[in-house]
Amino acid sequence: MAIGIIGGTGVYDAKLLSEVKQLKISTPYGMTSDLLTVGKLAGKEIVVIPRHGANHFFSPSKVPFKANIWAMKELGVTKIISVNAVGSLKEELKPGHFVFTSQFIDRTTKRDQTFNETGKIGHVSVADPFCNNLREVLIKKAKELDYDFHYQGTCIVIEGPRFSTRAESVLFKSWGADTVNMTLVPEVVLAREAEICYANIAMVTDYDAWKDHAVTNTDVLSVMKGNIEKVRKLLMEVIPLVDDKKACACNHAMKDAWM
Ligand SMILES: [Zn+2]
Repeated sequence: MAIGIIGGTGVYDAKLLSEVKQLKISTPYGMTSDLLTVGKLAGKEIVVIPRHGANHFFSPSKVPFKANIWAMKELGVTKIISVNAVGSLKEELKPGHFVFTSQFIDRTTKRDQTFNETGKIGHVSVADPFCNNLREVLIKKAKELDYDFHYQGTCIVIEGPRFSTRAESVLFKSWGADTVNMTLVPEVVLAREAEICYANIAMVTDYDAWKDHAVTNTDVLSVMKGNIEKVRKLLMEVIPLVDDKKACACNHAMKDAWM
């Protein structure tokens, strides 16, 4: 069994891993975003996929989400921790803060969101799309590290790659959502279908367009650069605490889903 990490470059510390291998995996849904890095950290097997591929090759709409999740399942991953950058829709969610996302609202339009299209049709429950058990482990560690973080948050997932208009941003804010991002869906949904626990570390990089200053890629990159060390520390210290053999409701998510 193994723990999966999906995120950008620099989210893990290669120096802390042993028995490192790079695997090229082909799946029924094509190739994964990039080579998978497999290694050991504190006795746990871990599998890492950079979501956007080397040199940020894939736009949010083109990330091979199904191949990535399929490959993780094939390699025995039972828990996934993902890392994303998010825009903030609330004053109190400040750039540099972390949010352990607990809900999403899907505003994507072009993505394949299921492994169950033909033959055996399943309707999986995503009423609570993120694994609460895994989220608690993240919260416990973030408290210990004295990070500025938020226990939960609702993320609006937009198609991208453009940022929201001011009108969209104000609308999302009026819905009571906390953050906005381009990649959580369908990743979290596919993980649920694959019966893998999935928790998310969202790093707030900017206030979305509802605030006076329109978000630019430069803002996002500069906050990410300043906080990547904190993400890495959180991940590297939380993994030894994750019990990848412990059964969770997520690991039986499809039990009552089949037609
Ligand atoms: Zn779970």
